[in-house]
Amino acid sequence: MRGLAAGNWKMNGTGESLSEIKALLDAAPSPECDILICPPATLLSRMAALAEGTVLKIGGQDCHAAGSGAHTGDISAAMLVDAGASHVILGHSERRANHGETDAQVAEKITAAQAAGLTTILCVGETEAERDAGRALEVIGGQIDSSLPDDVDAARLVVAYEPVWAIGTGRTPTPDQISEVHDALRARLSDRLGTGQIRLLYGGSVKPSNAAEIFALHNVNGALVGGASLKADDFAGIIAALEAAS
Ligand code: PEP
Repeated sequence: MRGLAAGNWKMNGTGESLSEIKALLDAAPSPECDILICPPATLLSRMAALAEGTVLKIGGQDCHAAGSGAHTGDISAAMLVDAGASHVILGHSERRANHGETDAQVAEKITAAQAAGLTTILCVGETEAERDAGRALEVIGGQIDSSLPDDVDAARLVVAYEPVWAIGTGRTPTPDQISEVHDALRARLSDRLGTGQIRLLYGGSVKPSNAAEIFALHNVNGALVGGASLKADDFAGIIAALEAAS
Protein backbone atom coordinates (compact mmCIF):
# COMPACT_ATOMS: atom_id res chain seq x y z
CA MET A 1 0.00 0.00 0.00
CA ARG A 2 1.37 3.46 -0.89
CA GLY A 3 2.23 5.45 2.22
CA LEU A 4 0.67 8.76 3.20
CA ALA A 5 2.45 11.52 5.10
CA ALA A 6 -0.25 13.97 6.22
CA GLY A 7 0.42 17.23 8.01
CA ASN A 8 -2.11 18.96 10.25
CA TRP A 9 -1.17 22.60 10.72
CA LYS A 10 -4.04 23.13 13.20
CA MET A 11 -4.49 26.86 14.04
CA ASN A 12 -1.01 27.77 12.83
CA GLY A 13 0.17 29.68 9.81
CA THR A 14 -0.35 32.90 7.88
CA GLY A 15 0.69 33.87 4.37
CA GLU A 16 4.36 33.96 5.25
CA SER A 17 4.21 30.28 6.27
CA LEU A 18 3.67 29.36 2.63
CA SER A 19 7.44 29.59 2.21
CA GLU A 20 7.55 26.26 4.09
CA ILE A 21 5.47 24.70 1.31
CA LYS A 22 7.86 25.96 -1.35
CA ALA A 23 10.76 24.55 0.67
CA LEU A 24 8.94 21.24 1.15
CA LEU A 25 8.31 20.88 -2.58
CA ASP A 26 12.00 21.62 -3.23
CA ALA A 27 13.05 19.01 -0.66
CA ALA A 28 10.59 16.31 -1.77
CA PRO A 29 9.60 17.02 -5.40
CA SER A 30 8.52 13.47 -6.29
CA PRO A 31 8.38 11.28 -3.20
CA GLU A 32 7.58 7.56 -3.23
CA CYS A 33 4.57 8.25 -1.02
CA ASP A 34 1.58 10.58 -1.01
CA ILE A 35 1.90 13.87 0.82
CA LEU A 36 -0.87 16.05 2.18
CA ILE A 37 -0.99 19.26 4.19
CA CYS A 38 -4.15 20.39 6.00
CA PRO A 39 -3.65 24.12 6.67
CA PRO A 40 -6.06 26.46 8.45
CA ALA A 41 -9.00 27.37 6.21
CA THR A 42 -7.59 30.85 5.56
CA LEU A 43 -4.63 29.32 3.70
CA LEU A 44 -6.45 26.63 1.73
CA SER A 45 -6.80 28.46 -1.58
CA ARG A 46 -3.33 29.96 -1.52
CA MET A 47 -1.73 26.64 -0.62
CA ALA A 48 -3.77 24.83 -3.27
CA ALA A 49 -2.50 27.30 -5.87
CA LEU A 50 1.09 26.56 -4.83
CA ALA A 51 0.43 22.81 -4.90
CA GLU A 52 -1.14 22.79 -8.35
CA GLY A 53 0.78 20.52 -10.72
CA THR A 54 2.85 19.07 -7.85
CA VAL A 55 2.50 15.89 -5.78
CA LEU A 56 1.20 17.81 -2.78
CA LYS A 57 -2.46 17.39 -1.88
CA ILE A 58 -4.36 19.85 0.30
CA GLY A 59 -6.98 19.09 2.95
CA GLY A 60 -9.30 20.70 5.46
CA GLN A 61 -9.21 20.10 9.21
CA ASP A 62 -12.97 19.75 9.66
CA CYS A 63 -16.23 20.38 7.83
CA HIS A 64 -19.89 20.79 8.68
CA ALA A 65 -22.34 18.00 7.86
CA ALA A 66 -24.76 20.42 6.18
CA GLY A 67 -24.24 21.71 2.66
CA SER A 68 -24.99 25.34 3.53
CA GLY A 69 -27.05 27.44 5.90
CA ALA A 70 -27.03 29.32 9.19
CA HIS A 71 -23.85 27.87 10.70
CA THR A 72 -21.68 30.85 11.57
CA GLY A 73 -17.98 30.07 11.43
CA ASP A 74 -18.40 26.65 9.86
CA ILE A 75 -17.25 25.38 6.47
CA SER A 76 -19.05 22.88 4.25
CA ALA A 77 -17.42 20.01 2.39
CA ALA A 78 -18.26 21.66 -0.94
CA MET A 79 -16.49 24.82 0.22
CA LEU A 80 -13.35 22.79 0.98
CA VAL A 81 -13.49 21.28 -2.51
CA ASP A 82 -14.05 24.74 -3.98
CA ALA A 83 -10.92 25.97 -2.16
CA GLY A 84 -8.82 23.16 -3.63
CA ALA A 85 -9.00 20.46 -0.97
CA SER A 86 -9.08 16.76 -1.79
CA HIS A 87 -9.06 15.49 1.81
CA VAL A 88 -10.50 16.40 5.19
CA ILE A 89 -9.57 15.36 8.72
CA LEU A 90 -12.65 14.43 10.74
CA GLY A 91 -13.09 13.52 14.42
CA HIS A 92 -9.71 14.86 15.53
CA SER A 93 -9.47 14.59 19.32
CA GLU A 94 -9.14 18.38 19.60
CA ARG A 95 -12.50 18.75 17.81
CA ARG A 96 -14.01 16.04 20.02
CA ALA A 97 -12.63 17.64 23.23
CA ASN A 98 -12.89 21.36 22.42
CA HIS A 99 -16.15 21.31 20.45
CA GLY A 100 -17.91 18.33 22.01
CA GLU A 101 -18.06 16.42 18.72
CA THR A 102 -19.71 13.04 19.09
CA ASP A 103 -19.16 9.87 17.06
CA ALA A 104 -22.61 10.37 15.52
CA GLN A 105 -21.70 13.87 14.34
CA VAL A 106 -18.42 12.60 12.93
CA ALA A 107 -20.34 9.93 11.00
CA GLU A 108 -22.61 12.60 9.47
CA LYS A 109 -19.58 14.64 8.47
CA ILE A 110 -17.96 11.64 6.80
CA THR A 111 -21.10 11.07 4.73
CA ALA A 112 -21.24 14.74 3.71
CA ALA A 113 -17.52 14.98 2.94
CA GLN A 114 -17.46 11.82 0.83
CA ALA A 115 -20.57 12.91 -1.05
CA ALA A 116 -18.69 16.10 -1.96
CA GLY A 117 -15.81 14.00 -3.29
CA LEU A 118 -13.38 14.35 -0.39
CA THR A 119 -11.23 11.58 1.05
CA THR A 120 -11.87 11.47 4.79
CA ILE A 121 -9.24 10.91 7.47
CA LEU A 122 -11.08 9.59 10.53
CA CYS A 123 -9.17 10.09 13.79
CA VAL A 124 -9.60 7.73 16.74
CA GLY A 125 -7.64 7.32 19.94
CA GLU A 126 -7.82 6.78 23.66
CA THR A 127 -7.08 9.17 26.53
CA GLU A 128 -4.36 8.34 29.02
CA ALA A 129 -6.95 7.43 31.66
CA GLU A 130 -8.62 5.02 29.23
CA ARG A 131 -5.28 3.37 28.42
CA ASP A 132 -4.35 3.13 32.10
CA ALA A 133 -7.69 1.44 32.73
CA GLY A 134 -6.87 -1.16 30.05
CA ARG A 135 -9.67 0.15 27.82
CA ALA A 136 -7.70 1.44 24.78
CA LEU A 137 -8.85 -1.21 22.30
CA GLU A 138 -12.44 -1.09 23.54
CA VAL A 139 -12.58 2.73 23.21
CA ILE A 140 -11.01 2.76 19.75
CA GLY A 141 -13.23 -0.08 18.55
CA GLY A 142 -16.30 1.82 19.76
CA GLN A 143 -15.16 4.98 17.97
CA ILE A 144 -14.68 3.05 14.74
CA ASP A 145 -18.08 1.38 15.02
CA SER A 146 -19.97 4.60 15.77
CA SER A 147 -18.01 7.16 13.71
CA LEU A 148 -18.22 5.26 10.44
CA PRO A 149 -21.53 5.74 8.65
CA ASP A 150 -23.15 2.66 7.11
CA ASP A 151 -22.74 4.16 3.64
CA VAL A 152 -19.02 4.89 4.05
CA ASP A 153 -16.99 4.61 0.85
CA ALA A 154 -13.93 2.56 1.82
CA ALA A 155 -12.04 3.85 -1.21
CA ARG A 156 -12.25 7.38 0.23
CA LEU A 157 -11.38 6.45 3.81
CA VAL A 158 -8.14 6.75 5.79
CA VAL A 159 -8.03 6.02 9.53
CA ALA A 160 -5.56 7.68 11.90
CA TYR A 161 -4.78 6.22 15.33
CA GLU A 162 -3.94 9.18 17.54
CA PRO A 163 -3.60 8.44 21.24
CA VAL A 164 -4.76 11.68 22.90
CA TRP A 165 -1.91 11.53 25.43
CA ALA A 166 0.70 11.45 22.65
CA ILE A 167 -0.54 14.51 20.74
CA GLY A 168 1.79 17.47 21.13
CA THR A 169 3.38 15.97 24.24
CA GLY A 170 6.59 14.48 22.84
CA ARG A 171 5.46 11.11 24.22
CA THR A 172 4.81 8.17 21.92
CA PRO A 173 3.43 4.70 22.57
CA THR A 174 5.85 1.79 22.40
CA PRO A 175 6.08 0.01 19.05
CA ASP A 176 4.15 -2.90 20.60
CA GLN A 177 1.35 -0.58 21.70
CA ILE A 178 1.09 0.96 18.22
CA SER A 179 1.11 -2.48 16.58
CA GLU A 180 -1.57 -3.81 18.91
CA VAL A 181 -3.93 -0.97 17.99
CA HIS A 182 -3.15 -0.98 14.26
CA ASP A 183 -3.58 -4.75 14.00
CA ALA A 184 -6.92 -4.47 15.82
CA LEU A 185 -7.98 -1.61 13.51
CA ARG A 186 -7.03 -3.64 10.44
CA ALA A 187 -9.11 -6.61 11.63
CA ARG A 188 -12.11 -4.47 12.59
CA LEU A 189 -12.11 -2.52 9.34
CA SER A 190 -11.70 -5.68 7.27
CA ASP A 191 -14.69 -7.22 9.06
CA ARG A 192 -16.86 -4.15 8.64
CA LEU A 193 -15.85 -3.00 5.16
CA GLY A 194 -14.61 -6.19 3.55
CA THR A 195 -11.28 -4.71 2.54
CA GLY A 196 -7.80 -4.74 4.00
CA GLN A 197 -6.80 -1.73 1.89
CA ILE A 198 -7.71 1.15 4.22
CA ARG A 199 -4.59 3.19 4.93
CA LEU A 200 -3.83 3.31 8.66
CA LEU A 201 -1.85 6.32 9.89
CA TYR A 202 -0.23 6.72 13.27
CA GLY A 203 -0.37 10.22 14.81
CA GLY A 204 1.08 11.66 18.01
CA SER A 205 4.52 13.32 18.35
CA VAL A 206 5.91 11.84 15.12
CA LYS A 207 9.22 13.49 14.24
CA PRO A 208 12.17 12.66 11.97
CA SER A 209 13.98 10.90 14.82
CA ASN A 210 11.21 8.38 15.60
CA ALA A 211 9.52 8.06 12.20
CA ALA A 212 11.59 5.14 10.86
CA GLU A 213 10.81 2.96 13.89
CA ILE A 214 7.09 3.69 13.56
CA PHE A 215 6.94 3.16 9.78
CA ALA A 216 8.69 -0.20 10.15
CA LEU A 217 5.61 -1.55 11.94
CA HIS A 218 3.20 -3.83 10.13
CA ASN A 219 -0.13 -2.13 9.41
CA VAL A 220 1.31 1.39 9.75
CA ASN A 221 0.86 3.01 6.32
CA GLY A 222 1.93 6.54 7.15
CA ALA A 223 1.52 9.29 9.71
CA LEU A 224 -0.67 12.21 10.66
CA VAL A 225 1.77 14.84 11.87
CA GLY A 226 1.03 18.00 13.83
CA GLY A 227 3.95 20.09 15.10
CA ALA A 228 6.61 18.52 12.88
CA SER A 229 4.62 19.31 9.72
CA LEU A 230 5.03 23.05 10.24
CA LYS A 231 8.70 23.08 9.26
CA ALA A 232 9.65 21.83 5.79
CA ASP A 233 12.90 20.24 7.02
CA ASP A 234 11.15 18.19 9.70
CA PHE A 235 8.31 17.08 7.46
CA ALA A 236 10.75 16.22 4.66
CA GLY A 237 12.63 14.01 7.14
CA ILE A 238 9.41 12.17 7.97
CA ILE A 239 8.61 11.76 4.26
CA ALA A 240 12.10 10.35 3.68
CA ALA A 241 11.57 7.82 6.48
CA LEU A 242 8.25 6.76 4.96
CA GLU A 243 9.81 6.38 1.51
CA ALA A 244 12.59 4.24 2.98
CA ALA A 245 10.02 1.99 4.67
CA SER A 246 8.00 1.43 1.49
C1 PEP B 1 -2.18 15.79 15.66
O1 PEP B 1 -2.71 16.61 16.36
O2 PEP B 1 -2.81 15.27 14.72
C2 PEP B 1 -0.80 15.42 15.96
C3 PEP B 1 -0.42 14.22 15.62
O3 PEP B 1 -0.01 16.35 16.60
P1 PEP B 1 1.55 16.21 17.00
O4 PEP B 1 2.27 15.55 15.85
O5 PEP B 1 2.01 17.61 17.23
O6 PEP B 1 1.59 15.36 18.23
